[in-house]
Amino acid sequence: MIIQLDSNITTLQKEELQKTLEGINYKGNQVATQFGDYIVAVGKKDFDIRSIGIMAGVKDIHKVSDPYKLVSKKWKVNDTVIDLGDGVKMGSGHFSMMAGPCSIESEKQIESTIEHLVDNGIKIMRGGVYKPRSSPYSFRGLGMDGLKMWHAKAKEAGLKIITEVMMVEQIEAMAEYIDIFQVGARNSQNFNLLDALGEVDKPILLKRGISGTINELLQAAEYIFSNGNEKIMLCERGIRSYESAYRNCFDINAIAMLKEKTHLPVISDPSHGIGVRAFVEQVALASVMAGADGVIMEVHQTPEKAFSDGQQTLSYKQAGKTYQKLRKTFGMREEFKRL
Ligand code: PEP
Ligand code: MN
Repeated sequence: MIIQLDSNITTLQKEELQKTLEGINYKGNQVATQFGDYIVAVGKKDFDIRSIGIMAGVKDIHKVSDPYKLVSKKWKVNDTVIDLGDGVKMGSGHFSMMAGPCSIESEKQIESTIEHLVDNGIKIMRGGVYKPRSSPYSFRGLGMDGLKMWHAKAKEAGLKIITEVMMVEQIEAMAEYIDIFQVGARNSQNFNLLDALGEVDKPILLKRGISGTINELLQAAEYIFSNGNEKIMLCERGIRSYESAYRNCFDINAIAMLKEKTHLPVISDPSHGIGVRAFVEQVALASVMAGADGVIMEVHQTPEKAFSDGQQTLSYKQAGKTYQKLRKTFGMREEFKRL
């Protein structure tokens, strides 16, 4: 059960509410975000929610039977829009494309990527400065020095930055230089990290775990929301299966289903989703038709020389065509909705 509170609710009225909840054996969890005050009440007893709905200080009350509450569409039917400023919006009819290398490698690489993105009207650049790698001997990113260099160049070009944060201790230093924090698949259920990102007023792109279920992804998002941050996007990036012909199994079902279950924007990552350059475009296009609000892709001037994930990275030429097709597909999907 979600109780939306009036912005001018008094302490006394809050206490009264908590007492009433205790009386019916419900645990009331206080949540205060950038956009509202809530009590998420969890309990078993069935009762007429109107008896709480009429109490002083209550704006609205909703029954949500899902294990995740605040991220559920059951209480918030309008899709969430995330505003990055400078006219860049995500979700609810705004189609977002994010592109860039797997890893930030050098100043020259940053400059060439920025030129490619600007030429193609892409507003958000991706890239890792802290890289989760299967082998400790692989390139693990340029860290804060790389991020600062990237930030200076991106700002000049008017581009937004999305990059992965791996540890709670990195958040504060990174926050000044980024526009969206990415939580990678390996950290999808790092609850300490999710708690801490809930206290930050920056959008979070939360990836699905390598073997994560839809329910686990939504409950991971609930950690962020319930700690105070409503600006969350979910990302399908493929899950592990028995199939070895490609890197991961991109779960197109998840896109359609997440759009039904949550009001949060849903982003697809076809690059990690299939992990094979030749098929990234098809998966990207399919994900848009399935309902994705945006796509994040890996691009590089010379993919075969990329420090990481070259095998799934598009060249600028390929990517240029893919962006065009994605925009057209999004337009078509919106047209289909009206049929
Ligand atoms: C990445 O975006 O480069 C990345 C490491 O993604 P994931 O966490 O989905 O593997
Ligand atoms: Mn990658």
